[in-house]
Amino acid sequence: MIVCKFGGTSVAGSAAIRRMTSIVRARAGERPLVVVSALAGVTDGLLALADAVHSGSPDELAGSLEALVRRHEAVAAELPGAEPAVGTVKADAEALHASLAAALGRRLRPAEVDHLVGHGELWSSRLVAGAMGGAGLRSAWVDIRPMMVTDDRFGRAAPHVPVLNARARECLTPMLEEHIIPVAQGFIGATPDGVPTTLGRGGSDFTAALLGAALGAARVEIWTDVDGLMTADPRIVPAARTLTAASYEEAAELATFGAKVLHPATAMPLVREGIPIVVLNSTRPDSPGTTIEPSAELERMGDSPIRSISWKRGITVINVRAPRMLGAYGFLRAMFEVFERHEVVVDVLASGEVSVSLTVEDRSRLEPVVRELSELGEVWTDDRRAIVSVVGIGLRTTPGLASRIFRAVPPANVEVISQGASAINMTFVVREEEGPDVVRRLHREFFGD
Ligand code: ADP
Ligand code: ASP
Ligand code: MG
Repeated sequence: MIVCKFGGTSVAGSAAIRRMTSIVRARAGERPLVVVSALAGVTDGLLALADAVHSGSPDELAGSLEALVRRHEAVAAELPGAEPAVGTVKADAEALHASLAAALGRRLRPAEVDHLVGHGELWSSRLVAGAMGGAGLRSAWVDIRPMMVTDDRFGRAAPHVPVLNARARECLTPMLEEHIIPVAQGFIGATPDGVPTTLGRGGSDFTAALLGAALGAARVEIWTDVDGLMTADPRIVPAARTLTAASYEEAAELATFGAKVLHPATAMPLVREGIPIVVLNSTRPDSPGTTIEPSAELERMGDSPIRSISWKRGITVINVRAPRMLGAYGFLRAMFEVFERHEVVVDVLASGEVSVSLTVEDRSRLEPVVRELSELGEVWTDDRRAIVSVVGIGLRTTPGLASRIFRAVPPANVEVISQGASAINMTFVVREEEGPDVVRRLHREFFGD
């Protein structure tokens, strides 16, 4: 079997859904399992709705819900077989309206946000399953929530993999054996008690990988709006090129440091079995895409020792200066305990003689973190920063790359430098507004344009 995951732009409207249906049809003999994201923009729309509840405007709430219903209705109207989905969307929207209207004026709890936001995938999967049936494919809508059992960290829930594996095999394998094409939701799950959760933004890629591992897929296809994993985000570097191959490690590093094309955890479930991920463009299904697999050999990299450059904005650097403490036993542990207690993820760490600098993306718990760190030493933060990351297996083996990288960066000022433990990335911090230019300069240095 194979997994075919279609991101938001690949199911954005009726034309996109027709395109994806023919992609699936061409693979029918390989027993595809389809995983879909919400229609492009719908997850953002649902999150905006959560804000509308907080700001307390009944008109905005009703209007935004109505717009979401109309969007799905308009798509369904152009797809034979998809009409029944509209009934579900309308019924859900009515139920949502009742519960959200009762919450007007207050901030939704994380569990409520997840319940709301997960509707995007529930709706898109109904539309897609119906449209595939209407196009003559044997498809079946599947509710992934009883399989994708997670913890209750709403907004970033972690799946319980053994339960998922057992239930996915039990429910999906018989369907696949009967040549039925299951259509499941990415991104969403539920606690053991059935309370809806989400895996975090961009999480549908992770869902696809988890299901691919559970079912022993021959490959996991990630269908998106670019030709594959590229040498940089093409929105920043129009000349960026598509990579034919990359290793799991490289893909994970790139994704962690901002390459939105893949969720950072996508490779993780697939490493053990060596199941390849293929990133493909749903508007150009015949282009070869990027294959991500155990060891994409160095010679397949062309003449550049690095694979790609990514960047991530919205970063805050936390600096801790503790002249007497830094070398002292227990200092780093005490520092990391603060981050752990507040569940704040640290992306980059660099330590000097008397100070430590760390970067975080999530500012929501910054204040208590800084307060507690202040007990360990002098603390200051720099916000509006960006992380730029140069990734490639070649970093391990090619001498002189660091100096080439840092020659290309000026006039921007590099603030924190870190080389990943895996030695396949070189990561540093610059001011946010300088990020795109730094990426472009590095691209020119390593890829010539
Ligand atoms: P989907 O909705 O299909 O999941 P995303 O929007 O999450 O798609 O990811 C695709 C986008 O990722 C592309 O449109 C591109 O702008 C961006 N991107 C960032 N870095 C890279 C990269 N290195 N290679 C390819 N795309 C990238
Ligand atoms: N729809 C979700 C999001 O926009 C999940 C995904 O697309 O992967 O984040
Ligand atoms: Mg995505």
